[in-house]
Amino acid sequence: MLKVRARACIKCREYVNIYPNNPENQNLLKVFESNHRGHTLITLDLDEVKDEYKNFEGQEL
Ligand SMILES: [Zn+2]
Repeated sequence: MLKVRARACIKCREYVNIYPNNPENQNLLKVFESNHRGHTLITLDLDEVKDEYKNFEGQEL
């Protein structure tokens, strides 16, 4: 089974799911990264963030 990865901001405790083939998701990632410019961003498995971090802009795909 394919694992979903997530881009997360450690400082704000927010994350975005990463869907490499989804252009809208790529845009959302850009927005997320510019919103969190200067913060510490990490990429990890969604399983590791979803309980402790908040989903950015309420996206549920
Ligand atoms: Zn942040």
